[in-house]
Amino acid sequence: MLSFEEAREKVIAAVRGLRGPLAMETVELSRACGRVLAQPIAADRDYPPFDRSIRDGFALRADDAVSGATLRCIGEIKAGSGFDGVVGPDECVQIMTGAAVPAGADAVVMIEYVSIDGERVTLRRPVSRGQSIVSRGKEARAGQQLLAPGTRLGYAEMALAGQVGGHRVSVFKRTRAAILSTGDEVVDVSATPGPLQVRNGNSIALETLASLTGAETESLGNAPDEEKELRRRIERGLEVNLLIISGGVSMGKYDLVETVLSELGAQFVFDSVAIRPGRPAVFGVCRGKPVFGLPGNPVSTMVTLELFVVPAIDVLSGAEPRPLPIFRARLAHALQERSELTHFLPARVQTVRGEPEVSALPWQGSGDVVAMAESNAFLVVPPEKLNWDAGEMALVLPRRGLL
Ligand code: AMP
Ligand code: MG
Repeated sequence: MLSFEEAREKVIAAVRGLRGPLAMETVELSRACGRVLAQPIAADRDYPPFDRSIRDGFALRADDAVSGATLRCIGEIKAGSGFDGVVGPDECVQIMTGAAVPAGADAVVMIEYVSIDGERVTLRRPVSRGQSIVSRGKEARAGQQLLAPGTRLGYAEMALAGQVGGHRVSVFKRTRAAILSTGDEVVDVSATPGPLQVRNGNSIALETLASLTGAETESLGNAPDEEKELRRRIERGLEVNLLIISGGVSMGKYDLVETVLSELGAQFVFDSVAIRPGRPAVFGVCRGKPVFGLPGNPVSTMVTLELFVVPAIDVLSGAEPRPLPIFRARLAHALQERSELTHFLPARVQTVRGEPEVSALPWQGSGDVVAMAESNAFLVVPPEKLNWDAGEMALVLPRRGLL
């Protein structure tokens, strides 16, 4: 059976192989958060565009700036204003952060390091050439590419694009993911379930995580455990870029998803992964589209979404797949697992004495959404080490957006 890392690699390779040229569109920068750049963004001029002071202080000539020297202040420059004169020997100009360093000056001394008496400014320490100045073009040269195609736009990338004049940006169109749940017992979240029915929490989780990841979702509702109707809905799902199905992939008599996909000509890349929960996860290609069959127990659905569907959406969005942000945290308690699988346990991470500490939450197995909703991470227990003592450094996978 594949490890979850191997299964992810297979998803990424298969989806890369399927992805054709991606359509683009132009959007307002302010609406571009999370989108993926289709065209590069370059510097429209040098950055900084002038020799910029990075401190409030006095611009001077480094040659004059021995400790104890007294200089004459001949004016002031605030950010956005120029200065007509030239700083001569034993002269200085008061300068604010972000202002252009005047002609003649080649260093700035911080205001904290001088004593001021009228127009006399006495240095309390020496100043070296270039100090507190970022010279023109030091951050970027005019024309230099700053953001490459494939870059995902977050707040820093957007601020940069905005600073260099990219108020409208060319991005890839969002990939479209169809979401289908299955099960005779499943009813819509707006319905009152009968005593033996369950509301369709999975479709909500699938749609939410798919859109958080950058996809546009299309809801196909819930299919009963009956081949004809299941097939009809799967065929509809195959019209968009990606199909995500929950339920119907285990060993039960009414788990029909794989049967129907096979009839439609699907090639399966895997139909189980060495993880718990989520072991029966299915991934394949059907009519040129990636299809996921995720086990229907809600925690299994969520784990397999995070592990396998997110990288597929990344690739279809025109980006590099985001790495799994696994980190180490101190385990708050001892832990034993038995099966030689990678376990993803609902867990809470908190900061204790400045360091992350993780505790697995009590839970009733992969149907327990109550425990899941108290978690902010998964505690990852690998098959090669199933027994852990309190205080050991364990592996943690944050839940998207919560840590
Ligand atoms: P399955 O993978 O179809 O065997 O379903 C496993 C378990 O998950 C069963 O207890 C189902 O009732 C439950 N389940 C399946 N689909 C959903 C859904 N869409 N929302 C909530 N629970 C579900
Ligand atoms: Mg089912």
